[in-house]
Amino acid sequence: MARKSRKLVVVSNRGPYRHEASRGRERWVRAAGGLVAALDPVLQKRGGVWVSAKPAKDFDSVTVPAPHLSYDLAHISIKRGDQRGFYEGVSNAVLWPLLHGFEPTIQVGDAPWSSYVGANQAFADTTISTSGPSDLVWVQDYHLMLVPGMLRAKRSKARIGWFCHIPWPPPDTFGILPWGEEILEGLLGADVLGFHLPEYAEHFRQCVERFTPHRVSRGTIHYRDREVNTIAAPIGIPVDELQALANDPDLGREVDRIRELMGNRQLMLGVDRLDYTKGIPERLAAFERLLRRDTGARKRYALIQVMVPSRTDVKAYADLKEEIDRMVGDINGRYAETGRVPIHYLYRNLSQRALFAHYRAADVALVTPLRDGMNLVAHEFAAARTDEDGVLILSEFAGAAKHLKGAVLVNPYDVDSTTAAIYRALTMKPSEKRKRMRSMRAEVMRLDVHRWADRYLGALEGK
Ligand code: UDP
Repeated sequence: MARKSRKLVVVSNRGPYRHEASRGRERWVRAAGGLVAALDPVLQKRGGVWVSAKPAKDFDSVTVPAPHLSYDLAHISIKRGDQRGFYEGVSNAVLWPLLHGFEPTIQVGDAPWSSYVGANQAFADTTISTSGPSDLVWVQDYHLMLVPGMLRAKRSKARIGWFCHIPWPPPDTFGILPWGEEILEGLLGADVLGFHLPEYAEHFRQCVERFTPHRVSRGTIHYRDREVNTIAAPIGIPVDELQALANDPDLGREVDRIRELMGNRQLMLGVDRLDYTKGIPERLAAFERLLRRDTGARKRYALIQVMVPSRTDVKAYADLKEEIDRMVGDINGRYAETGRVPIHYLYRNLSQRALFAHYRAADVALVTPLRDGMNLVAHEFAAARTDEDGVLILSEFAGAAKHLKGAVLVNPYDVDSTTAAIYRALTMKPSEKRKRMRSMRAEVMRLDVHRWADRYLGALEGK
């Protein structure tokens, strides 16, 4: 267990909650996405402070019961002129595709790098004023890669960590970035750099060797008079909390209702933020081939695709939304029968409870990203299946594939083989399903998010 005496200061672009009150009614909304889902329970348990930007109006969110927050929230303000360039221009149009290896999507062009520097400085300044010199500062993700160096410049003895919630690419891809060396130097202000997989950490060290003069030996980078450790710490989910939800008897009624509404067909389920890394068009194409195979298929199978709106101001996302809308329309137009639509497309965020009812109702979960740091939906699907039923089809390019060996692995670019995998999942014997699900559930429990945080914070505290 990490020591409780040091205060934990989490720093991330997006904070966990936004409070809304109107006409005497109040509502808490929680940010969607894996980072908040992972860190909120950690801070709830340990206490501390979460430093983040003020929630924007396009905050991708889920409504939650009023949380009894056992930690403090601190908000920074980014200069209005920097906000757009920092978030959309550099973070989401350059760094996100770069770190996922989507080279043609990277919009380096005239990306406003100075906005990224300005915004990172604002985060660093607020973190300094919110924390004491002996606190543990844990910076999150690709939006804030200069923050560790900026903190180090003011606090030479502090313990500073950074965690990468997405993949890290090999040096040839990283080399596309005009500001690559500044980013590496910024990160090397930390004591511990965490990644989901050993291969992402290895890529990072290769980048340091290629683009900086610092010496690397095994997992350690010798940076001036300090050592910077790189570790692989795969993230997980809050297992106890989610098991309680999965075991809630009321959930069963919601599950029955979903199955009934879907005409008791065999159900496939996709749950993703709208993002080009998630492989949604490829998945729809694989489902379409399943329907095309025989005319009986449309009577037997249905797909529920939950798609959470995300980064709606970035062009690549708006284009993708149009492509998916068109595909869903085409497939439904071609294969629907009166009273039976093959794809049920929910373009919004579901509450965790509704999501768990869907996980339980599904025969097959389709988690088929083209690249994903980990993918917590895959973990949650297994956590929901206390009945040990259901099959997970999982992309070999998701970090989760390195852990969830009971999944049916697919290459999502290969649409035909994904169709074959879906068919195999739909016709799998109950005994094989049970065996696979048991093995996944055991691994999901082992990867519990609290263990992940303890392990990372233990490394950060030098234990
Ligand atoms: N999620 C949610 N409601 C939805 C869809 C997703 O609360 O309607 C949550 C989901 O439970 C999961 C997270 O969003 O915890 C998605 O995390 P993941 O790692 O799969 O993907 P990311 O969005 O971080 O790329």
